[in-house]
Amino acid sequence: MSNFNDFKLSKEILKAINDLGYKKPTEVQEKVIKEALLNKDLIVKSQTGSGKTGAFAIPLCERLSFDEEWDKALILAPTRELAIQISQDIKNIGRYKKLKVCTLIGKESVKEQDNDLKGKVQIVVGTPGRVLDHLDKCTLNGKMIKYLVIDEADEMFNMGFINQVEGVCRRINKNRTTMLFSATVPEKIEELTKKHMDRPVWIKCEGKGLVTEGITHGLIVVEGKEKLEKVNSILLSEIPERAIIFCRTKDNVEIAHNYFKEKGYSIDKLHGDMLQKERNKKMDSFREGRFKILIATDIAARGLDVENVTHVINIDIPVEKEAYVHRIGRTGRGGLKGSSITIMTPYEDKYLNRIEEYINLKIEPYKEKEIKDKALSEKILRQNPKKREDKKKSIKGVTKLYLNGGKKKKIRILDIVGTICSIDGIEKDDIGIIEIKDNGSTVEIFNNKGEKVLRELKNKTIKGKKLKVEKAKN
Ligand code: AMP
Repeated sequence: MSNFNDFKLSKEILKAINDLGYKKPTEVQEKVIKEALLNKDLIVKSQTGSGKTGAFAIPLCERLSFDEEWDKALILAPTRELAIQISQDIKNIGRYKKLKVCTLIGKESVKEQDNDLKGKVQIVVGTPGRVLDHLDKCTLNGKMIKYLVIDEADEMFNMGFINQVEGVCRRINKNRTTMLFSATVPEKIEELTKKHMDRPVWIKCEGKGLVTEGITHGLIVVEGKEKLEKVNSILLSEIPERAIIFCRTKDNVEIAHNYFKEKGYSIDKLHGDMLQKERNKKMDSFREGRFKILIATDIAARGLDVENVTHVINIDIPVEKEAYVHRIGRTGRGGLKGSSITIMTPYEDKYLNRIEEYINLKIEPYKEKEIKDKALSEKILRQNPKKREDKKKSIKGVTKLYLNGGKKKKIRILDIVGTICSIDGIEKDDIGIIEIKDNGSTVEIFNNKGEKVLRELKNKTIKGKKLKVEKAKN
């Protein structure tokens, strides 16, 4: 096993990796980082939860530079939630190099994205449709894209985005490095790689199969009308620390949500009919431990990384075999244990057969556990889980501050840096990424100096203006 030091990474990247608590590279990181640093085109077969975000984010952040106006990296992801999560991961890795990340996703303000793109941005993460819009409007200059990452390529294909991905490939710099990540590489994707990649190196990380070891798989066969009751008895006997219950449709999410809400359980729901803002808020709440059980459609299944989900329950067996792998991949992450329990009706064997063939594993009948003390179980299910800080958003020693002035008050990065550096004991190296929006700005302060800067800024002016300063909410 190699060590992150062996890649000869800069001290800024090594510090960021250390902050995240990564001790050693995962298999995919070990194989990919080495090749990516040589600027080779790569096709990477690896499963969800394997650390693949780091595998591309580390070499990209190593290569890119804060001063660079021209070279950019573009990362395409199949869902908006995944794009947001990747942006956060990249911000964490590029923090000490002060790399700017811009997220381009549908259903969010185009104007704000246009503005963000006008500034110095080194990394753009987005969903294919919105990225294509920006390339067509030239708010994103395709010639500047020096690195392209296509993440979860098989999902893009399943969701019908492959033409949009091709459209992006055609509009950006031909002379670029491309990395494609996919759990499987069907023919259609291979065709795409032949057209748009240059002698790609294949990297396979299939040692452990499509599903992570450490997850137990159980199957229950019941009639449709008995499903909710059955799930309830599973919850009462298993008493999960945190669980996701997957349903096939939005309606089923609503029905299950109402059923468990009535029991007073600590639950919430997520599906595609909800506004993006609301979806983001729900995901943040789930990560922070504000509720215990998330009931969702497959939009919560792809690539999402929530710590310590102990159980995944499929109220409806997935119709698409790939969805099974994505759903259960929400548990057993980062080497932890997890349980996956799938419920099907007696007429759904065809789905089960397809899944078993795909994952090369027989899903054995679930061994029901005894409900020891129903009242106590119910009490626990009604309690929120232990509150936890979202590890990816709260890095030790780093504080993000919010100032209630931005572009409209003609505040520039230099003004903020100038004022903060005028505080005794604060230097440029203590200041991280600064983001200036129309009505507000955020600035990261390193080296445990956040509290001091917060205190001192209350008595200072920025560009002659008195601004309100507080800790940023996210
Ligand atoms: P991903 O497949 O990129 O979604 O990563 C899955 C999980 O593994 C995430 O929670 C990462 O923060 C975590 N992770 C990634 N790389 C490492 C590493 N080298 N050591 C420990 N955890 C890691």
